[in-house]
Amino acid sequence: MPARAAAALRLDTPVQFLKGIGERRAEALARLGIRTARDLLWHLPHRYIDASTLTPLSRAEVGQEVACLGSVVAKGVLPTRRGLRIFHAVLRDDSGLLECVWPGQPFLDRTITVGQTLLVSGPVRFYHGRQMAPREFVILADSAGEGDAVFEGKVLPVYPATEGLSHKVIRSLVDRHLDVLIRLSDDVLPDSAKRSLRLPSLPEALQAVHRPRALEEAEDGRRRLAFDELLDLQLMLIRARAIAKRHRSGVAFQLKRDLTSRLKESLPWELTGDQQRALREITADMTSPDRMHRLLMGDVGTGKTVVALFAMLLGLENDFQTALMAPTELLVEQHGATLEKLLAPLKLKPELLLGRQTPAEKAAVRKRLATGQARLAVGTHALLQEGVSFRRLGLVVIDEQHRFGVEQRAALIGKGVAPDVLLLTATPIPRSLALTLYGDLDVSTLRERPPGRGLVRTAVRHRNQRERVFEFVRDECLKGRQAYVVLPVIEESERADLRAATTMVQTLAARWPDLKVDLVHGRLKAEERDDVMRRYRQGDVDVLVATTVIEVGIDVPNATVMVIEHPDRFGLAQLHQLRGRIGRGAEESYCILLVDGPSPERLQGFAGTLDGFKIAELDLAERGMGDLIGARQHGGFELRHARLPDDTDLLTHARDLATELIGADPALQRRENLRLRERAVARYPRAVELFRVG
Ligand code: ADP
Ligand code: MG
Repeated sequence: MPARAAAALRLDTPVQFLKGIGERRAEALARLGIRTARDLLWHLPHRYIDASTLTPLSRAEVGQEVACLGSVVAKGVLPTRRGLRIFHAVLRDDSGLLECVWPGQPFLDRTITVGQTLLVSGPVRFYHGRQMAPREFVILADSAGEGDAVFEGKVLPVYPATEGLSHKVIRSLVDRHLDVLIRLSDDVLPDSAKRSLRLPSLPEALQAVHRPRALEEAEDGRRRLAFDELLDLQLMLIRARAIAKRHRSGVAFQLKRDLTSRLKESLPWELTGDQQRALREITADMTSPDRMHRLLMGDVGTGKTVVALFAMLLGLENDFQTALMAPTELLVEQHGATLEKLLAPLKLKPELLLGRQTPAEKAAVRKRLATGQARLAVGTHALLQEGVSFRRLGLVVIDEQHRFGVEQRAALIGKGVAPDVLLLTATPIPRSLALTLYGDLDVSTLRERPPGRGLVRTAVRHRNQRERVFEFVRDECLKGRQAYVVLPVIEESERADLRAATTMVQTLAARWPDLKVDLVHGRLKAEERDDVMRRYRQGDVDVLVATTVIEVGIDVPNATVMVIEHPDRFGLAQLHQLRGRIGRGAEESYCILLVDGPSPERLQGFAGTLDGFKIAELDLAERGMGDLIGARQHGGFELRHARLPDDTDLLTHARDLATELIGADPALQRRENLRLRERAVARYPRAVELFRVG
């Protein structure tokens, strides 16, 4: 049976029918999102180790950064005086020996065994002799002598791996099937685009990213894949805009200055200049007969919520209902509480739709929405689902819009409701980029910070000051404040060379028996996560150890300290999002970046400014350097290969080509529709939603 299936291999063949993949491997692959042959082909290396110039072990010199190949002849774990446990392995090649050390990673003792062939790369230093502290290492062959078929001493692709499936196994599986899978792949990009940008064909590009002969070759391949995804994004944006235009007849709200004026009078402060300008832009949109489709972009704390509330009250004054959607239940509750306070003087109450309400409560909420009795609703995207209907919905506000993609925006329109739409985001990006990435939206920005907030001080500290830093954290907590400690990974097994959240929470809990320490990360269920965050917000937790899940939206004014471990592992924009979790009250706050080596310039730059737009520019400039392969959400569309602004040339071409393909001529748009749809759907299954609409 598998043999027959293999004979008729197609890109959508389930992976378990591929040679070398049984049920167990198929399960492990599924954890990586790999279910079909196509998924395997598109499971791309997330980094490369350039071993094109290998240094003999004896010639690895102190102060150099080198790649070496050798077999493990001895290994073990040694404790240091300060309690840190270091994994050591001695490598040998024809030229001699080199000691490699992995501080704080005793668990590597389970992975690395004598007899294995290792490829290591990293800096060589002097410490009782020459030592390498590998930044990267790969096990190329195990002791049984089972060699690595793929690696020929050039550029080694390293694949995202998972438990029970090493990147080495993935590499050999990909390699085994690559030729056939590439032959099955269609290159639908017009030749003209390839020619003018000197892009390789799709088969060449796939070959180049999986089996580069040099790093430059992998980069050429990446650019081709980046162009494809930028083209898809532009196609989606142009279509979304076209659809929005078709449903253009919106509500022309009238300025009544009733509720809005009362809100203004009840606020204890003045709106900032930026808030006033944004509100003017929104009001202009809402009072025009066209539908509003606007993005309000501003750093955390710039006061987006109040602006959105004015817009909602304008809707209410006109006898329309309005809805505010947030990405998680917790944020819904938080918005509910904020709005309740702001609306109290107006004798209005928000209506919350929550997952943890009983079926009877939910039914009651739905009924009040359907009859129009509830006028201002707050909920997750459940508000858009079947069974929820509004009597007269005039405006939808969507918080943290990157969680709601282009396709959901279109789905909103496709549902037959045609309310005005205001999206809020705390991820500032430079204006030029916003226009390209959110081409279907108008954009308002808030840059100014309202007065009366405590300052956030940012400091970069070396790890040898760690004790003092943690004493400081403890002192602040004993004063009644709360702290975050942020780590890049959940478990040590994910990245051998990084400290992990699960270990940190144990360390801190043991160290501070008088403080309440807890843990939150992305592998917890949504309810568990919300529960921890809720307890933290209520002050039942003093120190919250966390991964980047705390990035979005959570507001705990009493949290005034954040320690970030391995800040070099985060993009600057991401660090900025994290830092936005503190400094939300009147107290001064402290963000401390703990680095292992000398304080890098990028972190100094980050520490020196609180302006999210400036940081966004730094971040883009940096990622243009290509040091990070961070998947990022833009308009809900994941850009996995593109790097901006480095790929600006690709972006410009993609926009032109997309316009040529579907933008200009409605007849052409209809004709091309099928092919574009198939193409987008084949690569991005969630595009189904978008292209079904309209
Ligand atoms: P964002 O949603 O952009 O992160 P919020 O709307 O939550 O920001 O506002 C942050 C805090 O600042 C809130 O406590 C809010 O009441 C307050 N605030 C908003 N606008 C002003 C203003 N113009 N002056 C003083 N405080 C303000
Ligand atoms: Mg907010």
